[in-house]
Amino acid sequence: MNENENLFERAKKVAPGGVHSPVRSFKGMDRAPVFFKSAKGCELVSVENKTYIDFCMSFGPLLLGHRDPEVEEAVLEMIGTAWTFGACEPYSLELAEWMTSELPWVEKLRFVSSGTEAVMSALRVARAGTGRKRILKFDGCYHGHADALLVKAGSGLAGEASTSSAGVSEDAIRNTLVAPLDSEEAVKEVFAQHGSEIAAVVIEPLPANYGLLPQRQEYLKFLREICTKHGALLIFDEVISGFRVALGGMVEVTGIRPDLVCYGKILGGGFPVGCYGGRADLMDQVAPLGPVYQAGTLSANPVGMRAGLVTLKKAKKMNLWKDLEARMARFSETLRQGFKAHSLPYDVTTSSSLFWIHGPTQKMIRSIDQFPVDQAAKFKSLFLGCLDKGLYLAPNAYEVGFLSAAHTDQVLQHAAREILEVARELA
Ligand SMILES: *Cc1c(COP(=O)(O)O)cnc(C)c1O
Repeated sequence: MNENENLFERAKKVAPGGVHSPVRSFKGMDRAPVFFKSAKGCELVSVENKTYIDFCMSFGPLLLGHRDPEVEEAVLEMIGTAWTFGACEPYSLELAEWMTSELPWVEKLRFVSSGTEAVMSALRVARAGTGRKRILKFDGCYHGHADALLVKAGSGLAGEASTSSAGVSEDAIRNTLVAPLDSEEAVKEVFAQHGSEIAAVVIEPLPANYGLLPQRQEYLKFLREICTKHGALLIFDEVISGFRVALGGMVEVTGIRPDLVCYGKILGGGFPVGCYGGRADLMDQVAPLGPVYQAGTLSANPVGMRAGLVTLKKAKKMNLWKDLEARMARFSETLRQGFKAHSLPYDVTTSSSLFWIHGPTQKMIRSIDQFPVDQAAKFKSLFLGCLDKGLYLAPNAYEVGFLSAAHTDQVLQHAAREILEVARELA
């Protein structure tokens, strides 16, 4: 047994599946997950001393790459100052002021420690603010692992949901409604039946947790309008798209203003930070000012606050978003041309610095019923081939890839050549 296998055997004895989050497990890949010991820029180093180009990037937080020198300096300085106060401090204030001035739709906010907490809390505020109990979410969007959101479409009736996890009771999801993405009709039907009971519609404005499913601008606009018409709130879950597709996330890209918005991932610069915010009248309901209870021992942890602020200010100064979009255009064009030139059964969907490699389809995939049928099998062989060549893609057919500031054109052209070579070998 090599060192990696040894670690995995030990890990399986102490944690379910040997992991602390399921998608890390290489499930269905017929191979032990790679254990990494260090990271820098766009590279990971395994315990076997093999170097990989990282396209998983911890599933999104590392906009500047691993251990950006400026972020590292700020983090080390903070660690030498304090780790946590559980009391008032200026570090979260600085990030909060920066956010509310850069993101005018965030009038007030509250920091938490994960995206899951952010969405869970936003829903609580929405229910309190409307005096209603139902939530509408979409099949194919992920909002963390709060009970009420672990649902999939049920059978038949408009919006009916069933649990997607054991341990979630029917009671916990009784007030959750589900609709397919990309269908105005389905949403109209749900509102026709439940309109006066819906507290909020929650959506990833760029769904990127189960494939990459860009939504039509007019569809998102329609959601804004139907919410307003029925007195429901619109919540944008920008945990993945926030600070990723633009500084102002999908709100900036679409110009559509939600009532509440959730952030995470990039916001903590690689540390556990989440945030919910939006209309001041809604946020003022939160304790201690109002009756909505929400708290956290490590909320607004100063190390995460510093890492986040330095990351965001640096990205803004570099105008990184424009640059990454251009790099992605060149990377994806090389891939597309290569797939086409050799009639390889792959295609790539991109949005800013996100990409998703999938089987070819006739048109843009916008909802989960349009997934290519053999996606899992096709991705598996590509994934393993890439892994052997030193490319670390997220180990799942439905997870997206991420570029960071550290992914230069040179790195990307090399990676594209390797991906194409793997695809050709498979063909
Ligand atoms: C990652 C993610 C979450 C969950 O965030 P955690 O920090 O993993 O709890 C929620 N919503 C979206 C859109 C995400 O991408």
